Amino acid sequence: MSEIIKKPRGTVDYFYDDASVLISIKNKLLSLAERYGFSFCTVPTFEESRLFHRSVGESSDIVRKETFDLINKGDRSYTLRPEFTASINRAVIENKFFSSPSLPLKFSYFDKAFRYERPQTGRYREFHQFGVEIIDEKIDLSSQVETLLLAIDACKMILGDIEVKAKINFLGSVTSRDNYKKALYSFFADKIQYMCEDCKRRLETNPLRILDCKVDEDRKFIQDAPKITDYLTEEDREEFDQIKKLLLKLNVSFQVDDNLVRGLDYYTGFVFELYSDEKLGALAGGGKYSSLMKELGGPEFEGIGFSIGIERLILSLIGKGSLDYKKSLDYFVIDLRKNGDGLIIAKKLRDKGYKVSLPSFSRSMKGAIKMADRENAKNVIIVDSDMTYKLKDMSTREQKDITFEEILGL
Ligand code: AMP
Repeated sequence: MSEIIKKPRGTVDYFYDDASVLISIKNKLLSLAERYGFSFCTVPTFEESRLFHRSVGESSDIVRKETFDLINKGDRSYTLRPEFTASINRAVIENKFFSSPSLPLKFSYFDKAFRYERPQTGRYREFHQFGVEIIDEKIDLSSQVETLLLAIDACKMILGDIEVKAKINFLGSVTSRDNYKKALYSFFADKIQYMCEDCKRRLETNPLRILDCKVDEDRKFIQDAPKITDYLTEEDREEFDQIKKLLLKLNVSFQVDDNLVRGLDYYTGFVFELYSDEKLGALAGGGKYSSLMKELGGPEFEGIGFSIGIERLILSLIGKGSLDYKKSLDYFVIDLRKNGDGLIIAKKLRDKGYKVSLPSFSRSMKGAIKMADRENAKNVIIVDSDMTYKLKDMSTREQKDITFEEILGL
């Protein structure tokens, strides 16, 4: 017998209820984004590798070790997208959307991203992200606050009563960040020999990343590190204060986290992450970026966006026992005539928007009723061989005669 081929590590199969949950989350989130004025977009699954090197950043873990690089026949090197911001900004430049009179540009997406990470709960190699990007000449306060509001709204829409916590920080302009990086460098210089190998590398490539380190022994050094707030310019500080004030006015609770630096290089000002179950890591992450468009050869536009990991949303629901998605049908049509009359009825009901299914002709009446129960059918229509029709209410189990005309009027 041939060996069974299994799915690659870190990937997920979606079938039955899992697939229904996924598609229902997708529809809900995209329609929420539409209500906020975003238009849906999709970008290629793979891009030229240099797009991610230039945008996400050479020093980021994502580019350093987590990209899926494709072996191809030409001389270009391609990479499966590890995220969407770079591709959307690339598309805006390539298609010259930035010259549109209707700024800001507002795009939403729901698709798969790929990162070569060590698989564990909540961490996959292929996963779904829902997110948005706003791109404009200047990203003002209202766009920044609204982006966070939408991210929270989106998580709450799916998670219901489960608490969603927002952590925020302000990374500041390129100048303030450079000053802060220098301060971190001097602070860690004499401690780095006691820290993990990744941090040793981070000190040279991007000391900000050290703040992101999850190794327990390293945390005690990080605790006492200088804080970014002390390196912000007056202007940065003012902007962050205004954002916080606006969030309070809108009744959004948040926690300022000095160590929140985000794993991607392009973030500059306001950044945030959302959490439900801390063990799963962040549910969502996002923030403002100021030089990405220019870096990619476009105009000096700014952007802000976030991305929510759908698998982590689903795991949060499962963790709290709140995943109660049940597939259901409005009508289950059992055709005992086996001549296609059932198919005609099913078609007419579907045309009216009902969810309808039929068993195969070979099913016995008893087997078909069992199947209707399994599929959570609310009603069964029996197309009887004596040329009559019956309607069975599956919750009360009551059955009554019904005419063809009455069925059409359902
Ligand atoms: P990031 O672009 O790294 O900020 O990721 C945004 C969100 O995507 C995170 O908050 C996670 O919910 C999700 N995410 C990132 N990486 C993974 C992964 N390897 N597996 C599953 N979800 C992920």
